[in-house]
Amino acid sequence: MRPFELTAPTTVEEALAEPGAFLAGGTTLVDLMKLNVMTPQHVLDINALPLTGIDTSDGLRFGALERMADIAAHPGVYPVISRALLLSASQQLRNMASIGGNLLQRTRCTYFRDVSTPCNKREPGSGCPAINGINRMHAILGTSDSCVATHASDVAVALVALDAEIKLESATGTRTVKLADFYCEPGDTPHIENDLRTGELITEVIVPRLDWAQRSTYVKVRDRQSYEFALCSAAVALDIQDGQIVDARVAVGGVATVPWRLSQVEDALRGKPATLESFEEAAKLAVEGAKPLMHNSFKVSLLRRTVVRALVEGSR
Ligand code: SF4
Repeated sequence: MRPFELTAPTTVEEALAEPGAFLAGGTTLVDLMKLNVMTPQHVLDINALPLTGIDTSDGLRFGALERMADIAAHPGVYPVISRALLLSASQQLRNMASIGGNLLQRTRCTYFRDVSTPCNKREPGSGCPAINGINRMHAILGTSDSCVATHASDVAVALVALDAEIKLESATGTRTVKLADFYCEPGDTPHIENDLRTGELITEVIVPRLDWAQRSTYVKVRDRQSYEFALCSAAVALDIQDGQIVDARVAVGGVATVPWRLSQVEDALRGKPATLESFEEAAKLAVEGAKPLMHNSFKVSLLRRTVVRALVEGSR
């Protein structure tokens, strides 16, 4: 790890006045600093900022420094969010990691984390060894000729399904952005992962009220049952009345370069009976546009089956 200067602002204004990398739980940043993937000269420990709180009075609002474990344990949080959080990382990491930091976590592509290899995301223009290399864990949706890395967050998938927004503050003002619009597919610029501008800090996560999201779930398929990233995951919320699907939200992770909303699947579900047959028919649309790589063609059928399983579990 390279030497760096550490300061600990106590107000948002102080934090926004200084350039540097924000340190919350440290569960991503410190790892990447140890690997020399990120080498900030100035680190701002923001843990003393007043950015906590869970408000469930009208939709959900989480302060950006709320810990994953505390949000997951809150009884007013929609099941799809709690479950996505509980299936992430380990209890120790969930006790440390903040919701704001979770949304900004970097990809787990092993080439990205190994500075002895090229990587377009780390060093623009250097190449992507994953495309013709070991790519079993990589994406089949939203990829480009420059990058095929998956987005690593579970809870971001649930939040995108629920149309969540994030509040961003900087020294020049505040703005609110839909989380689905915040993330960038790699295209020719995989080093630009999101719409976070220089000096901006996520201060709040806002989930619009959706009463029928009480019937929701998150299914995660991975190589081992805990402490592992998704091969494929699905966040589902269903509004079912008299056996008919009135409305649906579906998003998937582990298969795409950004948390991936499946609007075409949602459209296919609306107005249909809540049966296995309807779920299987709609899930066929989940793989539209998929481009499997040499080692991950299994993700095409896995994606379809994961969506069906999530719909079945979410309909109960
Ligand atoms: Fe880098 Fe993306 Fe290629 Fe991984 S997939 S090596 S992150 S450019």
